[in-house]
Amino acid sequence: MAVSQFAVIGLGRFGSSVARQIAGLGHEVLGVDKNVQVVDDMNQYLTHTVVADTTDEEALRSIGIRNIDCVVVAIGDDIQASILTSIILKDLGVKKVVAKALSPLHGKVLKRIGVDRVIYPERDMGVRVANQLVSPNLLDYIELSKDYTIAEISVTREIAGHSLMQLDTRARYGCTIVAINKPDDVVIAPTAEDILEEDDVMVVIGTNEQIDRFERGIT
Ligand code: ATP
Repeated sequence: MAVSQFAVIGLGRFGSSVARQIAGLGHEVLGVDKNVQVVDDMNQYLTHTVVADTTDEEALRSIGIRNIDCVVVAIGDDIQASILTSIILKDLGVKKVVAKALSPLHGKVLKRIGVDRVIYPERDMGVRVANQLVSPNLLDYIELSKDYTIAEISVTREIAGHSLMQLDTRARYGCTIVAINKPDDVVIAPTAEDILEEDDVMVVIGTNEQIDRFERGIT
């Protein structure tokens, strides 16, 4: 994987977590915040850090932000600063701007001004936690579209020891098991003869409704 350059503007709880994770994955991260203390605290984890008020176009220009592949605007509470920063970034020609929104209206404005991806961390995490509480075997999921999801589902005691043929997921539920994560191996595109064991995790693709039925059918 090529090393990309990222910047995170606003190093609060959300921004600092995003920045540290990107750095931990081996990419270059520039952290920007107007608060000196916040910047000092993050300095040890990131490639570069800068103290700047990003509503000032000149400040953003002088740190060379336009050369960065992806900029995350993690300013939340100060909606005006979040919007102004995002406009300046798009005006300066930053290719990918991802911004955190606090409300649907905030998100709508960010989209209108050309932000490439708007995220709602609290709302999305709330939905994720609720889904996992209601379906304890659902470990994680990625929404591919409004209707389609890839989900990681634990193998329950009820189906442990069964082969994929016995489970007959596609005919019974409509969804497909595309991989099996074993404790020390991953079986990609498993065959009908592959056996599910108790510590395995299935990676399943299907519509939300198919995955929901499958999840309920194996308990
Ligand atoms: P979080 O929910 O992520 O913890 P928070 O509630 O602590 O965020 P926010 O107001 O969302 O705080 O701001 C996040 C960070 O963005 C803060 O550290 C703040 O100093 C920084 N910030 C706010 N406005 C600007 C700005 N104009 N330029 C640069 N940094 C800013």
